Amino acid sequence: MFVVMARTASEAEILGVKSHILAEGMTPFDHEGSERTVIAVVGEVGPRKQELMSRLSGLPGVEQVTPISRPFKLTSREFHPEDTVIRVLDAVVGDGSLTVMAGPCSVESRDQLMETADAVAAAGATILRGGAFKPRTSPYSFQGLGVEALRYLAEARDRTGLPVITEVMEPNQVDIIAEYADIVQIGTRNMQNYSLLNAVGRVARPVMLKRGYGATIEEWLMAAECIVSAGNPNVILCERGIRTFETFTRNTMDLAAVPVINHLTHLPVIIDPSHATGKRWLVKPLAVGGVAVGADGIMVEVHPHPDDALSDAEQQLDFEGFREMMAAVLPVHEQVRGLYGPGA
Ligand code: PEP
Ligand code: MN
Repeated sequence: MFVVMARTASEAEILGVKSHILAEGMTPFDHEGSERTVIAVVGEVGPRKQELMSRLSGLPGVEQVTPISRPFKLTSREFHPEDTVIRVLDAVVGDGSLTVMAGPCSVESRDQLMETADAVAAAGATILRGGAFKPRTSPYSFQGLGVEALRYLAEARDRTGLPVITEVMEPNQVDIIAEYADIVQIGTRNMQNYSLLNAVGRVARPVMLKRGYGATIEEWLMAAECIVSAGNPNVILCERGIRTFETFTRNTMDLAAVPVINHLTHLPVIIDPSHATGKRWLVKPLAVGGVAVGADGIMVEVHPHPDDALSDAEQQLDFEGFREMMAAVLPVHEQVRGLYGPGA
């Protein structure tokens, strides 16, 4: 349930409601909106729900108490009507600007990363991506350079000024990744790895949560709810395609998920047409499509010589391909900017 405080509610009244909730063994999360404070009551309420609702309604400063039908609470628009805006170094995600995360699937060498970082920065990327610890379907495939790659990513950040994002696969990697990277990524295969979600919920870095390839939107938002309720409000969602009966593309990009997410939650949403399609020539049209339906940004894989890449060779763009994609998405973003307000 949400406790909606009156516009005129004092600090002491807000504190009073929060301590009442705590005394009930539940956790209060408050959001100070532009007009009023809303307090989400989180925890297992059970049969005392009606009674608790009426008791909270009677506390000083409370305007109304509303039940929430959806299982996700802190990530919902009802709790937090304004868009969440995430700032990381000079990049801003979710403020209406276009976030462009670009870089290689895997960091393969220092030269490969620096060359790519310079090229994508010059072409307008706002965040540099690169896999250090790689989740590979085959144990015989390249598994990533690990900590060596993290060092190159940090060097590339110093060189370009772009914040860096890289994937974390296990709870015990969170600290080392947070030491080098500015944003931590949870991959599709780990969307419901609850110990990992809890671990990134406690780290002082924004998290990008990719949609599980077999996950519904509600399951995806519940995974985001785990991170936010563990203490980290800075979650970026990433639609990267889901598995369907279609085999022509690597996954099926769920473009409708973008406006659905914008409707249900205040968190920013990014689309990843590289993993969604698995084919280089489909990246530009789907990037354009994602931006047109209201995504806050895109994540694409870029490599100096895609055909020689150690992972995801078929879907990585070369530098020229990246520049062409940017030239296509930027005017579309200008056109649709402001078309979809919060919750639209
Ligand atoms: C990635 O972005 O490096 C990646 C492995 O993507 P996904 O988890 O979407 O497969
Ligand atoms: Mn990849």
